[in-house]
Amino acid sequence: MYNTITAKFGGTSLADASQIRKAVEIVKSDPARRYLVASAPGKRFSDDIKITDLLYTCHKQASNREDFTATLEKISRRYGEIIEALGVDFDLASEIATIKKNLEAGTSADYPASRGEYINSKIIAKFLGWPFVDAAEIIFFNENGLLDEAKTFQTAGDRLKALDHAVVPGFYGSMPDGKIKTFSRGGSDITGSIVARSVMADLYENWTDVSGMLSADPRIVDDPKVINYITYTELRELSYMGASVLHEDAVFPVRKAGIPINIRNTNKPEDKGTLIAASMPKDIAKRAVTGIAGRKGFSSIRVEKSMMNGETGFGARLLGIFARSGIPFEHCPTGIDTISVVVNSTLFDEKRDEILREIKSELDPDFITIEKNLAAIAIVGEGMVRVKGMAAKIFAALAGAGVNIRMIDQGSDELNIIVGVDEADYEKALKALYGEIIS
Ligand code: ADP
Ligand code: ASP
Ligand code: MG
Repeated sequence: MYNTITAKFGGTSLADASQIRKAVEIVKSDPARRYLVASAPGKRFSDDIKITDLLYTCHKQASNREDFTATLEKISRRYGEIIEALGVDFDLASEIATIKKNLEAGTSADYPASRGEYINSKIIAKFLGWPFVDAAEIIFFNENGLLDEAKTFQTAGDRLKALDHAVVPGFYGSMPDGKIKTFSRGGSDITGSIVARSVMADLYENWTDVSGMLSADPRIVDDPKVINYITYTELRELSYMGASVLHEDAVFPVRKAGIPINIRNTNKPEDKGTLIAASMPKDIAKRAVTGIAGRKGFSSIRVEKSMMNGETGFGARLLGIFARSGIPFEHCPTGIDTISVVVNSTLFDEKRDEILREIKSELDPDFITIEKNLAAIAIVGEGMVRVKGMAAKIFAALAGAGVNIRMIDQGSDELNIIVGVDEADYEKALKALYGEIIS
């Protein structure tokens, strides 16, 4: 059906030799699966530690001039077990020695962090008998640390299309000076998307440990429904708001090229998973709500001033203060004499005094109220715009669960309704909303 597929496998899908065998079986079962993008070995059981986390620990220990050999040894042992069980010929000792040398020389964190995917991909390439292509040679960031799309798509496309098959490590690329730079956590999803776009694949498969994008967080809601089809826009919204199955930036490279994404379960390859595309089959399009996702960790800074609505530019000046402090705002609900800015609490706490000082001196408000410990929950669906009474349903669900709503924001595209609740009510609210709106 497809000619060229890029298949990205996540950390749990490659956590040990038996998981790697499953991934390899999947790849080999369809000749269209020509490019494999690999994560570092993730958790094998719930309190296991991801290789990437161990690598960050090594770096932290090295920077504090602490002994990191035991941590590095743990990493080495895990790869050692994989290599032995797969029966590949691989010089692990020299890879580990290089990491050690660079850590001792004071490398930045990105380099050791990237070695998790680097070594895993090299081992998998050996096992498959496919060429290994280092992401540092095909994925480029510009001086500002942003992906250089043109150079990347061109170089990666030329290099990979010339090969029948390749294994590419996820999570990193290189800066103009050649230094390794990683994406943010979970960034192998972005690499998969970049590779799919560069080779102009017909499909980007993202293999993980759940059977697709679920309509709510499975760690909170029991057995949430799988979303069979979802648009790029809805997916971006849900992943940005906390549905962490796919990195929030992973849609961009493929979306422009119209390459669909299929989220699949490595442990249940018979499940069809979630298909993500620009538009939906007709019957699916009737669905009002596609999914619910949320995150904790927000603060709301409410500024009150009588006759504010007559003061042109008040909102712009307020947002300007946050912008100058480098804090992006998430939401900005307004009243006649009030305006609130909802921001990430960790970022805000670092700049709190400076921001409050500037608000007082520049805007001379009557009151400033800070509400901390907010969680934001997004109810997302392109079909919502056509449905009457959605807000009423949301309020009824939350009232029924005894949850106090502290903020409401409807996206200007009517694609989502976002409610802010106390962090302590987050799980209860999510369950109630799922029960009322989706199940
Ligand atoms: P991988 O290692 O394959 O990249 P991740 O751990 O990054 O996998 O993402 C998969 C996990 O995302 C699932 O195990 C699940 O716990 C979590 N998750 C959170 N919200 C959702 C959701 N709405 N749908 C599916 N999975 C979700
Ligand atoms: N290994 C990296 C992480 O743990 C990247 C990824 O898995 O996508 O964040
Ligand atoms: Mg992931």
